[in-house]
Amino acid sequence: MTQIPMVTWKCTKCGYTYTAEKPAETCPECGEKCEFVDVSCYTPDCAGPGTDDRLV
Ligand SMILES: [Zn+2]
Repeated sequence: MTQIPMVTWKCTKCGYTYTAEKPAETCPECGEKCEFVDVSCYTPDCAGPGTDDRLV
């Protein structure tokens, strides 16, 4: 079984977040070439909805 590591990406412009293998070329929300940051939840104490606000 191969599991693709999914990453939670957040648009630095509009704050839109989504989960994907790679950051999109264009933001699904803005429709522009936004910059995306990795906000995946890596820490074990992060019980949030898959994102870690401390990384933003
Ligand atoms: Zn955006």
